[in-house]
Amino acid sequence: MRHLILVFTMLLLGQSVFADEYDKENFEIVDVGQKASSHGWYVTYKLDDETFAILAPHHWQETVSFLLIGEKKALLIDTGMAFGNIRLNVEALTDKPIIVANSHSHYDHVSNNYNFDTIYGRDLDFTRKNASGHPKTTWQNAIQPSAVSDNLPPEFDFESYENKGFEIDHYLKDGEIIDLGGRKIEVIYTPGHTPDGMLFFDRERGYLSTGDTFYPSTLWAHRSDADFKDYIESAKKMAELEPHVKYILPGHGEIVANPNFLGKLYEAFLAMRDPNTPYETGEDRRRYQFDGFAALVADPPE
Ligand SMILES: [Zn+2]
Repeated sequence: MRHLILVFTMLLLGQSVFADEYDKENFEIVDVGQKASSHGWYVTYKLDDETFAILAPHHWQETVSFLLIGEKKALLIDTGMAFGNIRLNVEALTDKPIIVANSHSHYDHVSNNYNFDTIYGRDLDFTRKNASGHPKTTWQNAIQPSAVSDNLPPEFDFESYENKGFEIDHYLKDGEIIDLGGRKIEVIYTPGHTPDGMLFFDRERGYLSTGDTFYPSTLWAHRSDADFKDYIESAKKMAELEPHVKYILPGHGEIVANPNFLGKLYEAFLAMRDPNTPYETGEDRRRYQFDGFAALVADPPE
């Protein structure tokens, strides 16, 4: 009997240790139809009745866009790679006027912007340059058949693919509230991955969109458009938000992540300042492995 109780306890413990409430398997997939999903290029997950994650799982970047619907307007955070037209997908979920805002202006987050009428962004030269379109050669490794595993929309063509430019209709300020009608979204500047990084925070529901500033995989803080000092300050801001966050909404790979990564991110950046923290070297960069994510930084980081 004692043996049985022990086995039963181990099973229970095992469940609590291994069940991950942040796994996308736990969320309902919404059927928006073949055309709207760009023939399965996008998979739409319901976080709640007014909040959806739109994932492009068949490209190695697995970009995620988030649709937050209010009583009067809807906010689309990031528009992805434009291998499919995400607007069809969004319009299958809401008939409210759509505001697009980007976590930052890297090509893999803004490429479908040109399909929308209202774009909010940062008042920075960095953003304006990216808004003029990205030359194909810049991101060649992402725009080739080997970048795709499956479900490429039939109308897509690698040869004619362009990162088209877009116009910014409104410059977002730090601390600004985007009022969707009965739903307020806070803008929080978080430079570091790029100069124009922003969080979008639905404080009432506890949803914090983090773009590429955090996702539970390898973070890029090593490129010329990254800034380690800015990143550490942004990570500090994010750690302070942790008690108010239910879900991180990350820019790649997962549709939600555990808010305890916010504190861990800041600790990771402090650790990378410590010369005793181990890392791997490669080319002119360092790679640090942490619990649940990694970071690439310049060598030395700052
Ligand atoms: Zn990025």
